[in-house]
Amino acid sequence: MQSASGEFLNSNSSEIVDLFINIDRAFSSSCIVAIDEVLGSRTCRCYECVAIMEALGGKRWTEMSKATLNGLHDCFPLLGAAAMHCFLPAFMKASYSDCELADNISYNIVNYFLLANYVYLSPTELPPIGDEFDGAPSRADEKPLRRNLSVNEEVIALFTQPQRETLTRYFEFYLKNIADEMDKADVMAVLGQAWLRFDR
Ligand SMILES: [Zn+2]
Repeated sequence: MQSASGEFLNSNSSEIVDLFINIDRAFSSSCIVAIDEVLGSRTCRCYECVAIMEALGGKRWTEMSKATLNGLHDCFPLLGAAAMHCFLPAFMKASYSDCELADNISYNIVNYFLLANYVYLSPTELPPIGDEFDGAPSRADEKPLRRNLSVNEEVIALFTQPQRETLTRYFEFYLKNIADEMDKADVMAVLGQAWLRFDR
């Protein structure tokens, strides 16, 4: 992806402030995920997984520091549905508040929901595992993809309508201000998913 320059944050600051107000309104600040539930049904307790559990378990998304969020920028595929839903607003805000974080986090959010595109095609339309199609990321490891997909479906079911609208605005901002030519196809694929389509 394109390296985020400082300019996009400054020149779009009023739009970002507006988006942040929307995120604060749409997402509850009181959600908490118990440490044992951070990874959902995943049972891995490797160093990375334990670090994620300890960083997020029992915490509120509003109290996460940028440094912590930056350190967790590629944790999304490892999270259970409840933790992904609870902490996504923290990552959304951090990714548009700091250039380094924008670089590290924002495409990972796009990519997470891009994977959800597979399940939303309906199970019979799923591509053969490992095949690339429509700009979807190629995955070497097959089983995690399947597992992550079912988690993605669970996560999507958790979003309220105001949250879906806020996510749409998040992705639209990304499309307009951050995405390079390659990212654009990915963001548009996410924005085209049924769960993000609604009348405005
Ligand atoms: Zn692990």
